[in-house]
Amino acid sequence: MTKTDRDVLGRGMRILGIAIREEPRVFAAAVGASALYGATTVGSALVIGRVTDHVVVPAFHDGDTSTGALTGAFLVVFGIAILKALGIVGRRLWAGIMQYRLQATYRRRVTRQYLRLPLAWHHKHPTGALLSNANADVEAAWYPIAPLPMATGVVVMLLLAAAAMVATDWALALVGFVIFPAIFVLNVVYQRRQGPLAMRAQELRADVSAIAHESFDGALVVKTLGREDEEAARFAAASTELADANIAVGRVRALFDPLLEALPSLGVLLVLLAGSIRISHGDLEAGELVQIAYLFTLLAFPVRAIGWLLGDMPRAVVGFERVEHVLDADGESVYGDTAAGKSGPAGLEARTVRFGYLDGADVLTDVTFDVAPGRTVAVVGPTGSGKSTLASLLVRLVDPGSGAVLLDGVDLRDYRHGGIAATAALVPQQAFLFDDTVRDNITLGLDVDDDAVRAALRTAQAEEFVDRLPHGLDTKVGERGTSLSGGQRQRIALARALVRKPRLLVMDDATSAVDPRVEAAILAGLRDDAGPSTVVVVAYRKATIALADEVVFLEDGRIQARGTHRELLDASVGYRRLVNAYERAARERDQAAGTGPESPDPTTAAETRDEEVPA
Ligand code: ADP
Ligand code: MG
Repeated sequence: MTKTDRDVLGRGMRILGIAIREEPRVFAAAVGASALYGATTVGSALVIGRVTDHVVVPAFHDGDTSTGALTGAFLVVFGIAILKALGIVGRRLWAGIMQYRLQATYRRRVTRQYLRLPLAWHHKHPTGALLSNANADVEAAWYPIAPLPMATGVVVMLLLAAAAMVATDWALALVGFVIFPAIFVLNVVYQRRQGPLAMRAQELRADVSAIAHESFDGALVVKTLGREDEEAARFAAASTELADANIAVGRVRALFDPLLEALPSLGVLLVLLAGSIRISHGDLEAGELVQIAYLFTLLAFPVRAIGWLLGDMPRAVVGFERVEHVLDADGESVYGDTAAGKSGPAGLEARTVRFGYLDGADVLTDVTFDVAPGRTVAVVGPTGSGKSTLASLLVRLVDPGSGAVLLDGVDLRDYRHGGIAATAALVPQQAFLFDDTVRDNITLGLDVDDDAVRAALRTAQAEEFVDRLPHGLDTKVGERGTSLSGGQRQRIALARALVRKPRLLVMDDATSAVDPRVEAAILAGLRDDAGPSTVVVVAYRKATIALADEVVFLEDGRIQARGTHRELLDASVGYRRLVNAYERAARERDQAAGTGPESPDPTTAAETRDEEVPA
């Protein structure tokens, strides 16, 4: 054995140990049943030997046998067969229960951990890999559980068989002591060849699913840019590599499987050869020979369970260690025990906040500003200036590298789990809708009546178009809300935040696909009737920005200027250029389209045109 073999074996054994500790009772039951199976297998060979000596051979000699002897033989053989069958049923049943229970347990653990881990961790791990951790890797980790009880039973079987052979005849025992270790050694060589190949196949399987997932996710880009062929080629390359790896596994199997089949048959031949010589010398009874030869044929198959166990190990090691990597991941958000949530708008403050994504340069530097309760602040800045990053910091999707964000004067990190979610809501630019009804997309399990849902829709300027949908609130929106336009999706997402009556509402470009006049109406509505809420809004349009009490102008991750829209127009050249450029771009787009103001999202245009725009 090489060092890596021992390594894999050692790591595999550790995983089996963990499995046994997780499900000790089921494991004990499976092993008990398997030991019964092992004992009855050897027992049936012994009985067949006895029956040969006491029933079959006398019958040949005398040409006659007694009903009593036949009935007795039948009952014993039948009884043993029943016990053996029970052993097999129990073994398989409990092995299956153990395997699937472990899978379920670890799937739950992995997914729970995904929810616990902060966004910073998720930034590092592609979705495809997360899917494969929770699915393929968990399954692979517990593959060896299926043959584990059988392999344990085989050990019992081999010990009993060895004892029976030694007790019967030394020459036949010698054949056994050559053949069975040979099967075992062949198995080990097999696994050694197979192991790295199987490991590679498991890794490639994860790669293939990652690529597939990315392609599905990017379907729109792929289709619109006509990148189908390139995507197909990228996927083909990965899947060909996987196919090659699987074929390599198959080739090794094709070489070793027949050898493993042949060895026990060779053993039976040798036993018959040696046995007939011993019988002719009068050293052995015919029944004893039958017993040992039969034992060989019976044992040949189950002995390979040890091989299956070893064969599944490399894959299990890779799978389990990946799962472990998720379960052991640190950077888990820590929570304090401050309860959040008195009523009324929240006060917000960012104090010298610095933030950088993994091993990258700082995205935000020395960001300091505050929002008094009930006020509306617009965050304005060019693309890539860090607006979305800031938005995610304000609701603690990520923690600042240094500095702090305070809600009602308390560091976000001091709130208890779920406290911030109950107080603050972030509406992202990419509105995500579930394949569910409009109502369920808004409540998301929150227990509110339709009046509250309607009020939220009204403030989000969405009530009218929802009423015009075929089934109103009960309309299914399709996967990711595909049956709605971009602007409609954004307004549903906004209503989802509003129905929770957040004390702090952070809108990250959340109305970018909505008609400008509707956007202004939304913001005006938020200030007037949506109740007491503090609002931070990332915005581009002058009309929207002008509604804010104050503007924070962000550039390259630094606050360049703060003040009212008017003040900044006068004081900051950069600010003036930026908002005017946006305005000009929007106007040119509208003129080109010739249909009045239009949103940048082409799907919204059709929708906003026929919509009554609230004054
Ligand atoms: P904005 O919303 O103002 O357009 P963002 O906050 O999205 O800006 O991005 C600010 C900077 O952070 C950009 O340079 C961007 O490349 C980088 N960035 C954003 N998200 C990530 C991420 N998940 N990982 C690494 N860098 C990121
Ligand atoms: Mg952004």
